[in-house]
Amino acid sequence: LPDQVENRLNQLNLAIVGHVDSGKSTLSGRLLHLLGRISQKEIHKYEKEAKLLGKGSFAYAWALDESAEERERGITMTVAVAYFNTKKYHVVLLDSPGHKDFVPNMISGATQADAAILVIDASIGSFETGMDATGGQTREHAQLIRSFGVDQIVVAINKMDVVKYAKERFDMIKLQLGTFLRTCGFKDSSVSWIPLSAMENQNLVAAPSDVRLFSWCQGPCLLDAIDSLQNPARDYSRPLLMPICDVIKSQTQGQVSACGKLEAGALRSGSKVLVMPSRGIGTVRSVERDSQVCSIARAGDNVGVSLQGIDGSHVMAGGVLCHPDFPVAVANHLEVKILVLDITTPILVGSQLEFHIHHAKEAARVVKILSLLDPKTGKVTKKAPRFLMAKQSAVVEVALHEAVCVEEYSTCRALGRVFLRSSGRTVALGVVTRIIK
Ligand code: GDP
Repeated sequence: LPDQVENRLNQLNLAIVGHVDSGKSTLSGRLLHLLGRISQKEIHKYEKEAKLLGKGSFAYAWALDESAEERERGITMTVAVAYFNTKKYHVVLLDSPGHKDFVPNMISGATQADAAILVIDASIGSFETGMDATGGQTREHAQLIRSFGVDQIVVAINKMDVVKYAKERFDMIKLQLGTFLRTCGFKDSSVSWIPLSAMENQNLVAAPSDVRLFSWCQGPCLLDAIDSLQNPARDYSRPLLMPICDVIKSQTQGQVSACGKLEAGALRSGSKVLVMPSRGIGTVRSVERDSQVCSIARAGDNVGVSLQGIDGSHVMAGGVLCHPDFPVAVANHLEVKILVLDITTPILVGSQLEFHIHHAKEAARVVKILSLLDPKTGKVTKKAPRFLMAKQSAVVEVALHEAVCVEEYSTCRALGRVFLRSSGRTVALGVVTRIIK
């Protein structure tokens, strides 16, 4: 359906990624407040709570963090979701954590994103840590979001107040990070650079007022940069595919809600849906978008789908809602093309890894290394190498402990992207090239 028919703004799913403590939550909280989504009263409540725990400066950050556990630890653990409107978009903000242990959550956000804000802490030392060649989070996040198909980013160079709004610092970060982003596959024309201070509210929704920043930065501000992002492409014509990122079971008998982003197709209340991999069939009772019931959900929308007539145990995070006549494939033996990241221990035949695909996670074993590829041309440079080292590109066969919902990357990008982890670190990224069985 064209947007005009429903008279609503196009939805833009925007992930916020970046180093832990770079200011992602502060920035999101500020934006929501400035755009009227969080009241001053709510901010005060958070401020009070924060002061009690001696973390006064976390006031805005806490507006997004939900659970008590997260608050105590001061990190955003699950993907918090908030939204606001700009002139052009209905923006769904996917705030993702930056802590090393929580990369899978960051990915949960990134897999749903159309574009991302990459937050950088401009302070001396912090930017450098994020860019560290052996595991810097800025580098890892930039690589991950690109590998998930996000090709437009706004780089928010935050905490400019800490470096006295120095243009030289901004230029240095832009030069160094820009070079790296190019190697990740971002085009210069799809990256915008915004100096700002979330704390001092400089350059967020209006041109900077601090004369030190104003003297060299004439805009655009962050909000303008978001509005300048390209309209995301949507797959409306294909059958429904909605990877489930979360399941809410209510006490009311037989009622269960699946949350996630529609990758293809559409659904409305009354639609019959097939839940994979359990093969349960349910009927859509209602669809909620931003805590409001809506008549229809379409590709690109982030929704909660309340189902009836289905056993709740059949609906699981990591599963996929699809059209009953077009079930997604379920497989446990896959051929994947991967790019190995900065690892110190080589990947061998027999290596045990954690396999992540959309919102599913499975134990996996490398059963074959088929060929080594030239990372630039993709041509085979060696058949059946014995092991894989950092930065190599290869085709491998993996066997999963349990089957997952999957599509070949050429058929559906969102369901064909994978990443592999080991000992709490992402060791490789890739795409499914063949479903073996
Ligand atoms: P996150 O881990 O990326 O979500 O970072 P937070 O939003 O929790 O911020 C981490 C710390 O940096 C907190 O103490 C914030 O108050 C502080 N901070 C965030 N933005 C700014 C800023 O623009 N300037 C300064 N000076 N501090 C900031």
